[in-house]
Amino acid sequence: MSFLFEPPAVPSLPIIGSDAHFPMHRIYCIGRNYAEHAKEMGAQAVSRANPVFFMKPADAIVAGGGDIPYPPATHELHHEVEMVVALAKGGRDIDAARVPDCVFGYGVGLDLTRRDLQAAMKAKGLPWDVAKGFDASAPVSSLRTVGDIGHPAHARLSFAVNGEVRQDTDIADMIFAVPEIIAELSRLFELKAGDLVFTGTPAGVGPLLRGDRVSAELHGIATLEGRIV
Ligand code: MN
Repeated sequence: MSFLFEPPAVPSLPIIGSDAHFPMHRIYCIGRNYAEHAKEMGAQAVSRANPVFFMKPADAIVAGGGDIPYPPATHELHHEVEMVVALAKGGRDIDAARVPDCVFGYGVGLDLTRRDLQAAMKAKGLPWDVAKGFDASAPVSSLRTVGDIGHPAHARLSFAVNGEVRQDTDIADMIFAVPEIIAELSRLFELKAGDLVFTGTPAGVGPLLRGDRVSAELHGIATLEGRIV
């Protein structure tokens, strides 16, 4: 067997303290996972019974930041800073207590969003794909291994544009904590080594413009620097 053409390269992320890269499988995201953000988006009271999940293609990754292209077909590109969890093991119906065994490491990323398209899709009750899954919609930092930092329950998560802080919270404020997010996802999908999970954004989302310098930090764990071009 041979391929008809050269298969695309496997998207990957650098690992802090290692020459090896983390090969990526899928990118899962949870929405409305901080109460203040759900409120600013006009959501009703968030139900713990119904986490909101969506996906981005693995090749939407912008590994380590740097130049981030402003996407086409929008006049309202929004930043959403999020803690990102990288899985070294997967499975189906994973018990929340077993989730830490599956985690390879942690990083910080941007769930970039074409907010105008998302609003239009929401108004029609249509899927969010065009708002969330566009090319270069997932800048993510290098990963910090569990061996380095364990499983942080508290960490400041912040995001600045041109030096001005726009989002600032602690990951302890998540509605669904990491074990719950991954346990829930594993009831819907068979998770695999190489999966990344975006864990939701705090309040303070807003527009990005060409030329903006962006800086995301999960304090003590990972940083992501970039520029919108
Ligand atoms: Mn998000």
